[in-house]
Amino acid sequence: MTLNQAADLRVKWKQRADRTPCEHLNLELEWNDLGHSKGNYICILCGESVAQRYLAA
Ligand SMILES: [Zn+2]
Repeated sequence: MTLNQAADLRVKWKQRADRTPCEHLNLELEWNDLGHSKGNYICILCGESVAQRYLAA
């Protein structure tokens, strides 16, 4: 997903009534507007950017 989509997700996530923390179980590769990726992943639920090494740890 793009950085703009991630920003939208973060806004929506903060508006939830349920405040349980996200476990970032579903990730998608992050792209900028030019279609380039730094290899970071974004949680499709909350929009947080999760570094790839987070998965390997
Ligand atoms: Zn998350």
